[in-house]
Amino acid sequence: VFADVPEAPADPILGLNSAFLADEAPNKISLGVGAFRTDEGKPYVLPVVKRVEQQLAADPATNHEYLPIDGLPAFQKLSAELILGKDSKAMKDGRVVTIQALSGTGALRVGITFLGRFLRTSGSPPAVYIPTPTWSNHRNIVPDAGLGAARTYRYLDAVSGGVDLPSMLADLSDAPAGSVIVLHGCAHNPTGADPSPAQWADILAVVQSRRLIPFFDNAYQGFASGDLDADAASVRLFADAGIDMVLSQSFAKNMGLYGQRIGALSVVLAEGTPDVATAAKAVRSQLKAVVRPMYSSPPAHGARIAVGVLGDEANYAEWKKELAGMAGRIGDMRTALKAALDSNGTPGDWSRIVNQIGMFSYTGLSAQQVAHLRNKHHIYMTSNGRISMAGLTTSTVQRVADAMKDAVET
Ligand code: PMP
Repeated sequence: VFADVPEAPADPILGLNSAFLADEAPNKISLGVGAFRTDEGKPYVLPVVKRVEQQLAADPATNHEYLPIDGLPAFQKLSAELILGKDSKAMKDGRVVTIQALSGTGALRVGITFLGRFLRTSGSPPAVYIPTPTWSNHRNIVPDAGLGAARTYRYLDAVSGGVDLPSMLADLSDAPAGSVIVLHGCAHNPTGADPSPAQWADILAVVQSRRLIPFFDNAYQGFASGDLDADAASVRLFADAGIDMVLSQSFAKNMGLYGQRIGALSVVLAEGTPDVATAAKAVRSQLKAVVRPMYSSPPAHGARIAVGVLGDEANYAEWKKELAGMAGRIGDMRTALKAALDSNGTPGDWSRIVNQIGMFSYTGLSAQQVAHLRNKHHIYMTSNGRISMAGLTTSTVQRVADAMKDAVET
């Protein structure tokens, strides 16, 4: 019966990694998957994470029982505080419902499913808007959650490499009231271009006047500026406006817990929601009703690690330093790549590499140039010309710059 199953297209990011692994060239370089690497090109386990894991392993009370459907309660609170701030008014008001989720992807998927069921302003599920370009999986999650194809709003100014705010605001203004707007909280993937604080205020004004529902995807808190609070400024600006909103969080990048699948989903109820305690209880019950038939309950280990880091003052302070160290290494690679491209005379203006922030640089290289880099130089990046900056090291940056020069001049 399965003989006619057609092969699905490879995921643009994970498929690229399979091709990289199959390449036998000894000098191959992966700039594809957004995972932090040390300057030796190795995966990085944060020292504070390692220490918490050792404590967990030594603790005789640690077991492998199921977590509740909505995850570890301490984790829920600490995650919400991390993104909304310890003095969050919404949290104090009891307007924030947080559940543990299967990393950022799982939080998005549960959140969109919930919105499809309960955000029915005109009797049908809301339209969901995602930026162009965006993380490719956004496009899969929306229809898989049963909300039909995602709509798009313009985001990138291809000439400057920055945010095209007028086009973005025009598209948001055209969205029907009650539409869901997916926003990257910081370190926009793939462009590395974020709105300025003044631009965020303009976006908030349109969201409020059009009565849109923001869904902030936070996969890189701490990676944009190296500072956790600064990177949450967009979310806190919107939360302070007292509107309904949804937040996904991932601890994949900022704690290096990629494979632990640890994240959170929060639904923030608007200020003035009648009988907020009852509403919050009902929302939690419905989030659990989405989770239970899908995967029953989330994994425990990553949640315990995150609690050990977030819930202990000394560990939290150490984490902040380690996070700033990761962001700093990425910043160094931006400077080094730009300098190498300038000094080898690669045609073009490469200032966007140092102007962009977060894990990625959206180089502007064409799909053809990307293919040339892969076929001739064994350097792998996504076909949209996105480089994962942490894939570069002090010892490979010159070779990458020289290969980019060759690709641009070919
Ligand atoms: N959103 C964005 C924008 C991302 O870049 C990522 C990770 N690549 C995610 C969400 C979710 O990743 P994860 O499920 O690994 O947390």
